[in-house]
Amino acid sequence: MGVRDDAEAIAPELVALRRAIHREPEIGLDLPGTQRKVLAALDGLPLEISLGTALSSVTAVLRGSGDARGGDGSGPVVLLRGDMDALPVTERTGLDFASETDGVMHACGHDLHTAMLAGAARLLAARRDELPGSVVFMFQPGEEGHAGARHMIAEGVLDAAGQRPVAAYALHVASADWPAGVISTRPGPMLAAAEVLAVTVHGHGGHGSEPYHAADPIPAACEMVTALQTLVTRKFDVFDPVVITVGSFHAGTTDNVIPDDAAFLATVRSFSPGARDKVRESALALVGGIAGAHGLTVSAEFRDGYPVTVNDEAETRFAARVAAGLLGEECCVPQLNPMTGAEDFSFVLEQVPGAYLMLGACPPGADPATAPNNHAPDAVFDDSVLAAGAALYAELALKRLAAAVP
Ligand SMILES: [Zn+2]
Ligand SMILES: [Zn+2]
Repeated sequence: MGVRDDAEAIAPELVALRRAIHREPEIGLDLPGTQRKVLAALDGLPLEISLGTALSSVTAVLRGSGDARGGDGSGPVVLLRGDMDALPVTERTGLDFASETDGVMHACGHDLHTAMLAGAARLLAARRDELPGSVVFMFQPGEEGHAGARHMIAEGVLDAAGQRPVAAYALHVASADWPAGVISTRPGPMLAAAEVLAVTVHGHGGHGSEPYHAADPIPAACEMVTALQTLVTRKFDVFDPVVITVGSFHAGTTDNVIPDDAAFLATVRSFSPGARDKVRESALALVGGIAGAHGLTVSAEFRDGYPVTVNDEAETRFAARVAAGLLGEECCVPQLNPMTGAEDFSFVLEQVPGAYLMLGACPPGADPATAPNNHAPDAVFDDSVLAAGAALYAELALKRLAAAVP
């Protein structure tokens, strides 16, 4: 039987694992219950397992015995990544396996990634004889803003098998945009860089009736918000765009008191290292200049950044070919533009060539164009894609290791 058939045979177990994780979602870097479920799913497989210390990650290494160089473990390495964390969202899907934790939901489908990666470990363990190298399974907490991938890299995931992977792959499900089972990817920039611009304008408080005796930070902060939009349109190539959205703005307590400070937060997105460097530099210069023009001071910094997720050209072509061979040409569509979301798999792709692929998981009967999107409280991800996803992870490792060994 092929990998695809073997994956279909274990589909009921993958669905059960996914639903168990969905029922008990956890947020951030510490996911002890999810980690326990993963370890139970991997139990009995011939894997070298290590657990994270700064986060509840699981790193599992499968050493193939089909190593052309005598099975001594010196063959090439491929890394497969699945993220495991949920979001602070109150679920409104009405599913019978909906979240049992108030205010926490697997609204980005990472429960499916975890189950698919555990399934791939089983599929590949059964094919250990065919593996001319090793596979690193990266079960990662904290994708949603906690840079879990960066922590796992710091704890050595890229060297877990003794040498750097020749390639790294990640799948991400989508509750909308593509029909179930469709793979979409592109070479080059796949997702945006994202970071927070935090600004506090410092003035001097006073009576609202006598602003000339105070140093009012509010008008200057408002000017900064609109000037940032002008910056986007005047300083950046429309074909190498940036997005700046001020999502939080706070100042003052009442109508007749000028406050000391005004503060705002913006998300800043870009699609090339050049644009990212330029927006950091020019936004800080802009807010500094406006504060200075009004005789005020400002504290401004960029923080919590994820870099651009850049798909390697050759690895993306390879992954798309493997997906088309496994799932059928009709299931693979090229992605025209990068997505404006961000991903911490970008930290892996900064060091290892690889590809990030979207996997449609729009439920039956829903229109991908209008179905609730990832992160929505009513986003529903179709379980029926689990076998295809697990098979694709496994096939990518099998084919890539075979290609790496002459
Ligand atoms: Zn997400
Ligand atoms: Zn996600």
